[in-house]
Amino acid sequence: SAKKLGRNCWRFYESTMNDEAQERLRIETALRSALERDEFVLHYQPQVDLASGRIVGMEALLRWQHPELGMVPPQRFIGLAEETGLIVPIGAWVMRTACAQAKAWHDAARDHGIGAGTGAGWPGAPIAPLRVAVNLSARQFTQPDLVDDVARVLAETGLPPASLELELTESLFVDDVARAVDLLHQLKALGVALSIDDFGTGYSSLSYLRTFPIDVLKIDRSFVNDIASDGDDAAIVVSIIALAHNLKLRVIAEGVETAAQLDFLREHGCDEMQGYHFSRPLPVAEFERLLRAATALEPLPLLRA
Ligand code: C2E
Ligand code: MG
Ligand code: MG
Ligand code: MG
Repeated sequence: SAKKLGRNCWRFYESTMNDEAQERLRIETALRSALERDEFVLHYQPQVDLASGRIVGMEALLRWQHPELGMVPPQRFIGLAEETGLIVPIGAWVMRTACAQAKAWHDAARDHGIGAGTGAGWPGAPIAPLRVAVNLSARQFTQPDLVDDVARVLAETGLPPASLELELTESLFVDDVARAVDLLHQLKALGVALSIDDFGTGYSSLSYLRTFPIDVLKIDRSFVNDIASDGDDAAIVVSIIALAHNLKLRVIAEGVETAAQLDFLREHGCDEMQGYHFSRPLPVAEFERLLRAATALEPLPLLRA
């Protein structure tokens, strides 16, 4: 009976593998046509300056609206898009769309007084042109024409380079350090800002912070989660803020969900925050509504993202 059980287990395992393989194939096939079918959409999550309470930027976050699967979150397809190389055209679409949107909001601010300190006067209104943060994947980072592509998108959309922030993860730096340093300097030369996403979760050494032309650290939300109750997490977050400031970097906390977390971060001099406490990532129309109506650091009703 042990043999029988073993065989059943194997069968069970095998059929699970088949299901997984089928699911992957289904997603991969659909992913290949998703761009042509215009199924991708970007949501924007505001980044709030803690000193002024104003929106200073937003992170562009990719969503896939599949006709049958519904809204597919990035965790379910980014990995596969990486493996298949589809992340390259998808990432190019993200970059172009996010930059065009940010430019449109700059223009709206100038022409209609949405945000950007043109006298709208309400708290929460941006005081400077909004920055847009775009996530870069490992595969995009190794594309030989990345720098040219970014330069072209900036030229074509007319977005000032300083208004684009590229989010990188520490894992991009471990393979070929010399190449990474060179690439980051080329990107910096365009005038864009560079940030380290999910800071503290990677395993690369801190020495890259000396060598790499980085502007921003984003504290991973796993550290932010328990800052108000867990002494170790609180110590780590305080240390990251100090580290960032000693290196003259800006520091953003991710995943801020509660007033207690917000108070802690403000008290310890964190520069900016992003999280559900202020707003979920929003579709364009809702983000515009927020730009018109935001109240400084008041938790908004949790709008559906
Ligand atoms: P990320 O870049 O670290 O983005 C932050 C994630 O945290 C987002 O998940 C966001 O919705 C979520 N988040 C924000 N505030 C809170 C909060 O208060 N609480 C909690 N629990 N979560 C919060 P999302 O949109 O599902 O994206 C997941 C990841 O997928 C991103 O992590 C990023 O690594 C990747 N991703 C998203 N868009 C793109 C893209 O255009 N290109 C690439 N290469 N990766 C992307
Ligand atoms: Mg990110
Ligand atoms: Mg992150
Ligand atoms: Mg992440």
